Amino acid sequence: MSAQDWFARHVTYPLHERLRGRHTLRELHALARLAALPRVAVQRHCAAHLRDLLCFAEEHLPYFGPLFTRCGLDPRAADPYAELARLPALSKTDLRAHRDEMVYRGVPGGPIPHSSGGTSGDTLHFFIDRIRQAQQLAARLFMQGLFGVRPGQRRAYLWGSPIESKTSRLKRWRDRFLNEILLDAFEMSATQMDVHLARIASFKPRVLYGYPSAAALLARHAARRYGPADFPWLRLVVLTGEEVTADQVAQLREVFGCRVVSEYGSREVGLIAHDCPQGRMHVVAPHIHVEIVSDGLPLAAGRCGDILCTTLNTRAQPMIRYRIGDVGTLLPEPCPCGLPFPLLWVAGGKITGFIALPDGQLCHGAVTSHVLRDQPGIVEFKTLQRQLDAFEVLLVVDERFTPATIPCVQQRYRELFGPRIKVDCRVVERIPPDPSGKRRYVVSDVAPDYTGFEVVCGPARDS
Ligand SMILES: [Zn+2]
Repeated sequence: MSAQDWFARHVTYPLHERLRGRHTLRELHALARLAALPRVAVQRHCAAHLRDLLCFAEEHLPYFGPLFTRCGLDPRAADPYAELARLPALSKTDLRAHRDEMVYRGVPGGPIPHSSGGTSGDTLHFFIDRIRQAQQLAARLFMQGLFGVRPGQRRAYLWGSPIESKTSRLKRWRDRFLNEILLDAFEMSATQMDVHLARIASFKPRVLYGYPSAAALLARHAARRYGPADFPWLRLVVLTGEEVTADQVAQLREVFGCRVVSEYGSREVGLIAHDCPQGRMHVVAPHIHVEIVSDGLPLAAGRCGDILCTTLNTRAQPMIRYRIGDVGTLLPEPCPCGLPFPLLWVAGGKITGFIALPDGQLCHGAVTSHVLRDQPGIVEFKTLQRQLDAFEVLLVVDERFTPATIPCVQQRYRELFGPRIKVDCRVVERIPPDPSGKRRYVVSDVAPDYTGFEVVCGPARDS
C-alpha cells in the first residue's frame, strides 16, 4: 500500500466520514462481523431488525400505523416476515401521495432530501439519512474488499450527471484527499475518452466504477491502443445503474484484464446486492430485505417475480415492501463463496428480457448474446420474437461479416428455441434505441406474464 493510500485509508477517509456525520467504518466492521456468522444467525439478526422496523413504523410514521391495523399486521408477532407479507406493495404513487406521512423528522442528523428519475420526467422526491448513506458506503467497501480492494485505495468513477459532473475546485481537492477521481460519463467523445484513459493511466486506480454503457464504450475505444498489460494495477471494474450485458463484461475484461462485477441498487432503497468473487449476486441482507412476489404474494425461491425491497435500518423514510420495478428471483442454494447472504438474480430488461419457449418456459434473452457475440463481424444485434415460432434478428455488421454467418445463427436459434422456428436475419445500418432511450437486445411480443415461471437460462453469469 502506498503512503498516499495509507494516508487516505487511516486519516482522510475516516475524517471525511466523521465530518459528514457518518459511521461508515463502524458499519463496515459490523457488516464484516455478520458476514462471518452462519446463515441462521444472520437470519435471526435480520428478523430482529425487521421487527424493530415494523414497531418503529407503527409508532412514528402516520402512514403505516392505520395501514397495519387495516391489514391486521402485528409488529410484535413472532414471525415478522409473515406479518410483512400482509402489506400491499409500496408504489411510487404511494410515495408521492403520502410522503409527509412517511417521514420521521427526528432521525439523527435530520432527514436528507434525495430524488430519483431526474432525467426521465418521472422524478420522485424522498428522504434518506446518514445511516443509509453509511451502510451503503460500507456495503460497497465490504464487497469490493472480497476482491482485495481496501478502503482508501484509488478509485476512478466514470460517473456524473449534468450537474454533478461540474466539479468544483473544492470537490477536486476532496477527491484528491480521498484518493478518487471523477471521469465525466457524459463527455464521451473520442478526444475526451483519450483524456479519460490518460487520467486512468497516470492515476492507476484499483477500481473503475461506472455505468456499463459508458465503461464499455471506453473499453471499446481503449482497445485500439491498450490491452491488459497497460492496466496491471486495476483489480476490479464495478458496473451499476443500468442493465449489464454479457458483451459489455467480455469487452471490459478483454481490455482491462481484471474482474468485472455488478452492483445492483436503486436511488430509493440504496445498494441492494453485489456480485461476489464467485460471480453470484448477494443481497446485502443485514441492510435490506428482498422478497419476490406475484400479485403481492410471496413466491418460492427459484421462481421469478417482482422484486420488493424493505430497508431495515434507515429511519428518515423507511421503504417497506417497495416495488422497485425490476423482476428477479432469489436462488435457494448457498454460494460456494461462503457468504451467508441470499443470492439474487435480476432479470434485466424485465418482461421483454425473456423469450417464450413452446413448452411454456421462459428463457432469459441473455442467451442470444452468447450466440451472436461469437460470430465474426456482428457488432450490434437485437432479437425480436414476433410469434412463438417466428424471430426477427437485426444485425449491424462490419467488414469481417460474411453471409455464411446467417445460417449459423439460424441453426443456433433452432437449437435453443425449437427446431421448427423461423429466423429472419436482417443486416441493418443501425439499431435505434427504444423510445425510453434503453437499448434492449431482446424484445418479445409473446412472452406472457413472467411471474411464477421457472427461469431456465438465467442464473449462469459471466463475471
Ligand atoms: Zn458468493
